[in-house]
Amino acid sequence: MEQLIVGLFLALFALEFIIEFGLNELNLRYVRAHWAERKIPDFFQRNMSNAEYKNSVEYTLAKARFQRWADIYGRVLILIILFGGLLPLMDRFSQDVGGRFLSLSHARGLIFCFGVALVFSVASLPTDLYSTFKIEARFGFNKTTWKLYLADKLKGLLVGTLIGLPFLWVVLWLMEATGSYWWIWTFFFVFGFQLLMVIIYPTLIAPLFNKFEPLPEGELRNRILHLAEQVGFKTNGIFSMDGSKRSAHSNAYFTGIGKAKRIVLFDTLIAQMTVDQGLAVLAHEMGHYKLKHIHRMLVVQTIFLFLGLYVLSLLVDYRPLFAAFGLDKPSDYAALVLFSLLSGPFTFYLGPLINRLSRKHEYEADRFAVDTLRNPRPMEEALVNLTVRNLANLTPHPWYSAYHYSHPTPTERVGAIRAISV
Ligand SMILES: [Zn+2]
Repeated sequence: MEQLIVGLFLALFALEFIIEFGLNELNLRYVRAHWAERKIPDFFQRNMSNAEYKNSVEYTLAKARFQRWADIYGRVLILIILFGGLLPLMDRFSQDVGGRFLSLSHARGLIFCFGVALVFSVASLPTDLYSTFKIEARFGFNKTTWKLYLADKLKGLLVGTLIGLPFLWVVLWLMEATGSYWWIWTFFFVFGFQLLMVIIYPTLIAPLFNKFEPLPEGELRNRILHLAEQVGFKTNGIFSMDGSKRSAHSNAYFTGIGKAKRIVLFDTLIAQMTVDQGLAVLAHEMGHYKLKHIHRMLVVQTIFLFLGLYVLSLLVDYRPLFAAFGLDKPSDYAALVLFSLLSGPFTFYLGPLINRLSRKHEYEADRFAVDTLRNPRPMEEALVNLTVRNLANLTPHPWYSAYHYSHPTPTERVGAIRAISV
């Protein structure tokens, strides 16, 4: 049985790798072929110089070439952790330390899970460093200093530990204390925790890393307040964020639910857009709010959470699964770690479905902005502006974007906006 489990996992693991790697290669070739023929949509040709297009192609290719190695590195890492004896080693270590030095219940499980998570975050440093300080820097996007980078990582680790350990403790306690329906109790707990995070992330955690301020006085602010009133959005939920301290990339987002909801515009976006364009971006974000996109995504996540915990409940005592990866007896904490390490090749195929829903939301929010402003031009101009300034890929391979993109391609979005008759 153990061999069968390992065989099935490795087959799906290889398939996932082939699809991921193959899509990246397809995308690389597609971008190069378009560049060779200078085939870009006319609305971009008019708004961007040849040098800017060349730059965006080089940026896309640099990221895709690096992705090859990052993909291979990430896969090798998972294989080493699963088959290199790390899990049994960590299990013995957590038993020694957790058993002898800590009287806290579930100390062993906490150390085991925390140890594996730490291995992953340390191992992800090389690829993260290269992409920040080599690729992003080469194209003028990186503004992060070493000091800030280090401070971010330490803060992230601290916040992750302070929130993660109590969370994990409750899950381990529920698994042990609530009998065979533990997974339903855990479902309610994790669901509640997710709701809490949707509220405290924008209001308490994100401000640890960035400054959020009311929009600067001026025409943009006045017109935004007017628009917010028209749409019925609470105006003290609109912020400018100092994104420029880490990166020259520009962006905007809508987050949170209830009283914690907020629209955030990066200072880089405010600086690079005309007032009309900035207003269009804000109208788009209000569209996400009005059309309840966060709520809909939460419902989808909750369904996946329920199904995931049900599957976990079937596997949690299944001895061959643990034996297949070198662990001599089942335990709740090892089940959690194994489940998260092994589920990737199975859940990989859900990614494009969620992206598809997200892309549908983006089309709807664009449409909302056009209808609210009664003018398609500012939204289109804002999109072209964002695309050009961020050197976004103008010609992704259709399979690649269908799989990986949470937003429709710039060309698709502009096309859809032009098809709306106001
Ligand atoms: Zn959006």
